Amino acid sequence: MTIQVSHTEPPILQLHQVSFSYHTLQGETPVLHQVSFEIQQGEFISVIGPSGAGKSTLLNLLAGLIPVEEGKILFLGKDLYLQKKEGPSFPLGYMLQQDQLFEFRTIWQNVILGLEINKKLTSDNISYVNSLLKKYNLYEFKDKKPSQLSGGMRQRAALIRTLALRPKILLLDEPFSALDYQTRLEVSGDIAKIIKENNITAILVTHNLSEAIGLSDRVLVLSPRPATIIKQLPIHLTLPSDNLLSYRLAPEFNTYFNELWEDLNHEKQK
Ligand code: ADP
Ligand code: MG
Repeated sequence: MTIQVSHTEPPILQLHQVSFSYHTLQGETPVLHQVSFEIQQGEFISVIGPSGAGKSTLLNLLAGLIPVEEGKILFLGKDLYLQKKEGPSFPLGYMLQQDQLFEFRTIWQNVILGLEINKKLTSDNISYVNSLLKKYNLYEFKDKKPSQLSGGMRQRAALIRTLALRPKILLLDEPFSALDYQTRLEVSGDIAKIIKENNITAILVTHNLSEAIGLSDRVLVLSPRPATIIKQLPIHLTLPSDNLLSYRLAPEFNTYFNELWEDLNHEKQK
């Protein structure tokens, strides 16, 4: 995928020396150690790292679900959390592993849930959601219950619910890991396409190296806990396509794969 980067604007997101520990009755668990990176508008970043490294914690900090203890997170040059306090238009949307659709609500009632909670059910937003449903082939299913849809369709519905709030940055925490292999390829390709078409900056946490290479402009590699960034690998594949299977055919694919594989295993053995 090509990077649509405008260097005249400040980075959309900047982390400066962000550190974080959980404090529990058992003691202190240091999770992130002086994590710094920047993301440009429109970039698609993947974060990989061993299980328990602190990937979800990183996204939770970005989503404002847990407070930053040390360091700074800036959105377009300004403190992210001050902006959160200022109003409901928080610029980051979050999508998790499970689609988290409510079975007692129809697809329509699910996709407008965020708008409802944030009191933003304007006619403008409603027609935006309708256009997304139509564009991504869910409009005819809007009165169905989630269980009547395939796993891939449910993930698309969950994404539309997040997009309804028009986030500038999308956080995706292993959103495809509950899907079987074939569906995963299909859905991750679909979701990446939707993200690109809507010009959204994305941070994807994934266990899947192929997915990270296939979908992103840059891969960040985390060390085991307490996580630091051990590498930022820019990805340039010479087979532009939305199909993850064809990414594997790009001549650079194996080189990237082997490099990231070695980084992860090297770190594990330390
Ligand atoms: P990852 O997503 O990379 O697998 P997490 O960010 O979920 O890792 O967790 C990082 C570490 O922090 C793990 O050791 C985990 O057990 C611990 N942890 C996660 N959430 C909490 C919490 N709420 N309280 C205490 N420890 C936690
Ligand atoms: Mg996690």
